[in-house]
Amino acid sequence: MEAESVEQKAEALESLIAGPLAYSASRLLSHSRGLPSDKDFHFYNNFDEFKLPAREIATKTESSLGEVASSISLWGSKKPPPLPEELEEAYDWLVNLNDDFLEKFGISMDDFRSSREKQEQSGMAASGDGFQLVCGKKKKKDIVLNQEKTEATPSSLGIKMVSRDQKTTAARAKVPFHLPNIPRPQTQFNILVNNNNTPFQHVWLEMSEDESHLIHPLEKLSVVDFVDRNIKEDEIIKPLSLERTPFKLVEGVKELKELASKLREVDEFAVDLEHNNYRSFLGLTCLMQISTRMEDFIVDTFKLRVHIGPYLREHFKDPLKKKVMHGADRDILWLQRDFGIYVCNLFDTGQASRLLQLERNSLEYLLHHFCDVEANKEYQNADWRIRPLPDEMIKYAREDTHYLLHIYDLMRCKLLSTSSSENDLLLEVYKRSSDICMQFYEKELLTDISYLHVYGLSEAGFNSQQLAIVSGLCAWRDKVAREEDESTGYILPNKAVLEIARQMPQTSGSLRRFVKSKHQYVECQLNAVLKIIKNAMANSSAFEDIAVELRKKHIESLAIQASEAVNSESVAPNYLSLYQTSSAGSCQEEKKMQQLSLLDAQSDIVGTVEKEYKGTTASSQMLMETTLQAIPTVSVQAMKKPAGGFGALFGNSSRRKAKPLNRNVSEQEKMRASWSKSKPL
Ligand code: AMP
Ligand code: MN
Ligand code: ZN
Repeated sequence: MEAESVEQKAEALESLIAGPLAYSASRLLSHSRGLPSDKDFHFYNNFDEFKLPAREIATKTESSLGEVASSISLWGSKKPPPLPEELEEAYDWLVNLNDDFLEKFGISMDDFRSSREKQEQSGMAASGDGFQLVCGKKKKKDIVLNQEKTEATPSSLGIKMVSRDQKTTAARAKVPFHLPNIPRPQTQFNILVNNNNTPFQHVWLEMSEDESHLIHPLEKLSVVDFVDRNIKEDEIIKPLSLERTPFKLVEGVKELKELASKLREVDEFAVDLEHNNYRSFLGLTCLMQISTRMEDFIVDTFKLRVHIGPYLREHFKDPLKKKVMHGADRDILWLQRDFGIYVCNLFDTGQASRLLQLERNSLEYLLHHFCDVEANKEYQNADWRIRPLPDEMIKYAREDTHYLLHIYDLMRCKLLSTSSSENDLLLEVYKRSSDICMQFYEKELLTDISYLHVYGLSEAGFNSQQLAIVSGLCAWRDKVAREEDESTGYILPNKAVLEIARQMPQTSGSLRRFVKSKHQYVECQLNAVLKIIKNAMANSSAFEDIAVELRKKHIESLAIQASEAVNSESVAPNYLSLYQTSSAGSCQEEKKMQQLSLLDAQSDIVGTVEKEYKGTTASSQMLMETTLQAIPTVSVQAMKKPAGGFGALFGNSSRRKAKPLNRNVSEQEKMRASWSKSKPL
């Protein structure tokens, strides 16, 4: 675009804002105040003098709306939103449009600014080439529900690869955590999961004789046996570079079998997983990286999902084979969930780093500190569902395990040399690592109080109607997420839940305004969601007490923050007086409250409230059930007043994670058989 014409356009816009548009709008507004409305309108409408011009205006308005809806310059090839059926909704419709355009404008401005910054940094700005204004939305998702594109190359998916050389330049590409056009691996690779609101079954574990708990293979082992003191610093050999190390991408059963054979020959290997939890309900392991002293492997855990357990399970469980992982807390649970793999004999370099009190505990730091490798952690949060894997991502994934065995050697030496007779640091690493392995994966279950965990809720200061909406929306998104195998955050993010509850929209137009094209599932079920909101508002009495309680706790936590601020000799805001009036000065209460960690304010508030009101279930449970029944064929049911006051609100503990259920042996066997059809080695 010519600089001159840009200037002209900008001037035209400015004069429009300052001149005719603003003037017309203000005239319109003042005249509209004189128009009769409601009953008056119907009265006046009996007279032709009023009726005819009113009708004319209505027709004109409708045709103007039609023009807007069909304007090619506004919509291009994009399908415009359908015209509102009711005139009442026209206002919301227009406001939505307006918001959309303002948003587009904002995005274009952001793009423009960032591209100008880049050009300035790279010295191009002064070249006199002028700037190119980027139009349209930033790579906005254009997914149609349940419809997928087949082609998925990095460029077709809009991903820019980061190269290490670019790291030093100012304009570094950001790796997106979500690529909306990736075909769903669940569909592509026929990945079957159980998203039911029922506890996870650990079908590969034995039950204790008294049937009280599941037995982790580690239970029968002694941590002391894992400790390996046989190492001399001068014997440690630095691993070959990535380029000189053989690498295998394991995509078929045959290669997996070969990997398993190789692991049988070694007595230690390093492991890491890449994961995605945005586009599935429980989360999906996307890759498994394994490094031996000689080779790197990356296992495609989509293609080989059901085969990984049968081929690798025994090696992971084998107490004579050391597994080295970094920060394995989540990996341990993902291994259990997706492959039925339980780990024995783990050395967690993250734990070792803590015990050695290194400057930082990240893998990035350990690579730098021990291996003099500057890792590129750009891809840590990438969308690992992408296939085929771009070379850069393969390289990144390999780096996560390639050096781990070497780091393990060096750390072992360090741990031995810093240990004392009372403080056996190496043993402590194994104790901590074993504790991590002994955790059991638990599925997140929806309860009648799950909504209390929506991030930001305790600070929202909601009334009972708003809380009821939060609860209803949470139940709705949970159900949709389980059915569609998406994360609840993908269906409707917490921020949107809180925003909708705050505004309590009651017409489809006003609800659409929150949704826009960002939350397709809400858009598809607009009426159902609207009914949930209305139902929640009509039956919110069950939430009155909790609303009061949440507000009280919020004020108290603000007060604690204030008193902490006083203690640290900064200025005391007015919160302190709030606290004094609200907590009635009970000394014990005060102490209890002060013990709360400020960092965990949200969960503390929820936790305290939960504990206090744990008791009978009743009305909030009923409302949740009502909501669940109401999806997708919504029926509005009347709510009864809660029977037990406060107590009625909390039936169960927070974000209930169920204990593994007892099962008899034959049942367990059946489940194993159905779990995986692949034969072990
Ligand atoms: P890592 O342990 O670094 O291999 O990370 C394993 C997985 O955890 C990644 O594939 C991501 O899904 C997730 N993850 C790690 N770091 C982050 C982060 N900073 N933000 C979001 N997700 C992360
Ligand atoms: Mn990891
Ligand atoms: Zn990793």
